[in-house]
Amino acid sequence: MKLVVMKFGGTSVEDAAAIERTAAIVAGRVASGKNPVVVVSAMAKVTDQLLRAAAAAAAGDRIGALAISSRLRARHRDTSAELVNDEAAAAALVQLIDGKFDALDEVLRGLSAIRELTPRISDQIVSYGERLSSQIVAAAFSERGVDVSHVDARQVIVTNSEFQKAVPLDDAIEKRAAEKLSPLLAQGKVPIMGGFIASNEEGLTTTLGRGGSDLTGALVGSALNAETIEIWTDVDGIMTADPRVCPDALRVKVISFEEAAELAYFGAKVLHPATILPAVKKNIPVLVLNSRNAGCEGTRIISVAPHCNSPFKSIAVKRKLTIIDIVASRMLMSHGYMSKVFAVFDKHKCAVDMVSTSEVSVSLSVDSNASLPAIAADLSGLADVKYEGKKALVCMVGEDIRGQNGIAAQVFNAIRHVNVRMISQGASEINMSFMIEEDDADEAVRSLHAAFFKEPDPEIFDVEARKQLLASFS
Ligand code: ADP
Ligand code: ASP
Ligand code: MG
Repeated sequence: MKLVVMKFGGTSVEDAAAIERTAAIVAGRVASGKNPVVVVSAMAKVTDQLLRAAAAAAAGDRIGALAISSRLRARHRDTSAELVNDEAAAAALVQLIDGKFDALDEVLRGLSAIRELTPRISDQIVSYGERLSSQIVAAAFSERGVDVSHVDARQVIVTNSEFQKAVPLDDAIEKRAAEKLSPLLAQGKVPIMGGFIASNEEGLTTTLGRGGSDLTGALVGSALNAETIEIWTDVDGIMTADPRVCPDALRVKVISFEEAAELAYFGAKVLHPATILPAVKKNIPVLVLNSRNAGCEGTRIISVAPHCNSPFKSIAVKRKLTIIDIVASRMLMSHGYMSKVFAVFDKHKCAVDMVSTSEVSVSLSVDSNASLPAIAADLSGLADVKYEGKKALVCMVGEDIRGQNGIAAQVFNAIRHVNVRMISQGASEINMSFMIEEDDADEAVRSLHAAFFKEPDPEIFDVEARKQLLASFS
């Protein structure tokens, strides 16, 4: 069996036209003899709106919450009506959509009375995004001749009980995939399921964290030993920088697992940070593809990438970070001091991105989050603590930085006009990162991109597309 997992992001299912394109892409894979499993996100922006409805309800604004839900109901109904013509199928789909929205409205009403939004209720509310989109996509595919079977993702993806950022349980997922998906595949059916949503061992709904549908795709691919895992999105692949920041970014044709994981971790939104792990476990290539430009070959993520003549493959930016400066005279290097500092971050479940030390101080960077005042209060027993938000971490990634002399000088020369707060070159030697003010981030990326991607290696980067783009402007 030539099994391929195809994950489509929010923009690839945002409206009827997008779902039609997605159906054609999947039908094409079936026609070429592949057995796809399809994983879809919620329609674009739906997760944000569901979270807004939840927040409104929790603030006691029942009418506001129900108004958001009612707009979402209309959007899902309208999209379905455009896609499904068969009368019986259309009626069944409307009934299904209405049933889900009725249930959602009940939760929102209850929440507006209780006014306490727990992570568990939040997951229950956002899960409707993927539960709805997967049903609409299944009906639309079916009408276009794809032999589909809708599968509730919560029956396949099993996680621990950390609501909102649940950790997948690989063995349980493998078992469930064999039970729920393999028999359908054996019958030649195309299973369609929502990404992002899962359930804990008691069957309560959990989610994998924002952007988590990519991870669902990778988990299913790994559990079923797929040939490839395809991540279909709204850009041509992994680019040399976020094209929204740097319009002349180039497509990276091929990149290693290690580099892609580093980019994702350091903010390249195109992949959820945990996506690569399940693929590495089974050595399954991951392809990043554009559902609006299906002919483009995208980016291939594999275990060993070919040598590249340019030091870097791509530049990522992680925003909304805070630097915490901890100053403690003499004590710092004393035995056990650092572990006490990290224990505080651990206690508040706050991940540290970057650390730099001097004799009397240690600076750390963390995602800005609500626990910062509590963390600062706990640390104040150990030292003087200052924290400063609105920082961004720029991360340059490439395996070919290894052993190159003078790279750091070139990097800092390219951004000599920017104030750099912290610098690190990871032990993996495939990234060079530094912390700057968030307001300087876009400009810094563009300067670095101009400096390092002037003469890109045509074996690794799609230089043709850039030439065509420039020609179209002249
Ligand atoms: P989806 O909804 O398909 O999961 P996302 O919005 O999560 O899509 O991710 C795609 C977006 O990631 C792109 O539109 C782009 O703006 C952003 N992005 C950030 N960094 C990169 C990069 N290095 N290469 C490609 N896209 C990037
Ligand atoms: N719908 C979820 C989100 O917006 C998951 C995803 O799209 O990957 O975060
Ligand atoms: Mg995404």
